[in-house]
Amino acid sequence: MCGVIGIYGNDHVFNDLYQGLLAIQHRGQDSAGIITYDGRFHTKKGNGLVRDIFTKEHFKRLKGNIGIGHTRYPTIGGYGGDEAQPFLTNSPFGIIMAHNGNVINYKEIKQVLLNKHKRRLNSENDVEAILNIFAQELSEQNIKELTPQHIFSAVRSVYKKVRGSYSVVAYIAEQGMVAFRDPYGIKPLVYGSRDDGPIPSYAVASESVSLNIMNFGNVQNVGAGQVLFIDSDRNIHTKKLVDRPHSPCLFEWVYFARPDSFIDNVNVYDCRVHLGNFLAKKIKAMNLDIDVVVPVPDSARDAAIEIARILQLRYREALVKNRYIGRTFIMPSDQSRKSSIRQKLNPIVSELKGKNVLLVDDSIVRGNTSRAIIELVRECGAKKVYFASYSPPLRHPCVYGIDMQTKTEFIARNASIDQIAQKLKADKVIYQSFEDLEKAVGLGNKKLHNFCGACFSGVYPTGDVTPELLEEIESERRIVQDNQLELNL
Ligand code: SF4
Repeated sequence: MCGVIGIYGNDHVFNDLYQGLLAIQHRGQDSAGIITYDGRFHTKKGNGLVRDIFTKEHFKRLKGNIGIGHTRYPTIGGYGGDEAQPFLTNSPFGIIMAHNGNVINYKEIKQVLLNKHKRRLNSENDVEAILNIFAQELSEQNIKELTPQHIFSAVRSVYKKVRGSYSVVAYIAEQGMVAFRDPYGIKPLVYGSRDDGPIPSYAVASESVSLNIMNFGNVQNVGAGQVLFIDSDRNIHTKKLVDRPHSPCLFEWVYFARPDSFIDNVNVYDCRVHLGNFLAKKIKAMNLDIDVVVPVPDSARDAAIEIARILQLRYREALVKNRYIGRTFIMPSDQSRKSSIRQKLNPIVSELKGKNVLLVDDSIVRGNTSRAIIELVRECGAKKVYFASYSPPLRHPCVYGIDMQTKTEFIARNASIDQIAQKLKADKVIYQSFEDLEKAVGLGNKKLHNFCGACFSGVYPTGDVTPELLEEIESERRIVQDNQLELNL
């Protein structure tokens, strides 16, 4: 999962890019980068959080009224600062590009680019593959004067050659800004405008919250299979190049996106409240003896409040999160994993002691965190601990850009709900149904009928995910995870 921003402005855009990236920092905390343009490109990339990478010096150095920013959580490629986006290619024109997603035929594209077009990729980052395909397609058109048709033609070729999910923003020097979303529109992408000069400024971003914070209005979605081209006179050209079922990622509403964002016109906060509402009705029918509803902070709060309201139960924030702890390392032993949870979450014992506690979380992936939290609550003297997930059981790898790529990592894989409860040492585990998850999102936008819910259902919207491909992705991911574990030890 990553976050992208592109601005075609009237004044220097570095500060807006910085503020916009801060607003989507939750989409990736491993690295970030900004490239601006003022007749030449100015670059700064690094590992870590946005606030740590960029300084006053970069504010002065990264000049220009055009720029692209990115914040990254790696799913393909390594973790080094060199892998940070945006990427740049000199020809044709000079193009910078960033994306959110995952190219599933990256290796094949890399070989074709080298063998057929003599283009050598210099990273393991899949956006470099999209950038080079796009650049190659533009080059082959022998352009004298670039028109929107050249852009549409190049993006059409990207659609033919690049499989997976990708929401892309690019700038072609002196020509214009380009944004497009893969044919199924799996990852979100929005754009908006701001009247701040003789001609409007435009911005593209992964989440609407970035546009709100940068004061851009008229927010619209880039549709599935749609390309947007803002030319150098700031004329907007859009075209839907392919017509496949729009299938946005359900996990955006469950966990990834900020509650104040709209993803495909569905407010994330509203959706989480609906999810709480549906789950509460399911819990009510189970007649459990619950004393208190406790959210696992932060994403579960909105749903947990609704669950407590419907069940007419006491709601307590009995787990306090330390917001200033960054990413915790992958812990090799149960003991160290537990202490890592304690660094992040501290219980308020008086709210848990002697109570039957309903813990609410957004999802259960591997189960290590959930198990450690349940143990923690029991150690505080809770009589019973029920665990509710407002999303359905996760059982299948995500090949579209989320770090859940190995099937063996899911606690729910090949396990019944009772077996999951046993593994977690919970008195009961309650899951949202897949139908209710789709219904909750659909309430916000009646036009959405298809979703990517592959990690829940095993049905991959792109229709090209074979068992062999899953096996290949899984083994690559294991190597990356092993390398990362070694680095952390
Ligand atoms: S598989 Fe799951 S996490 Fe991945 S894109 Fe689809 S819904 Fe989102």
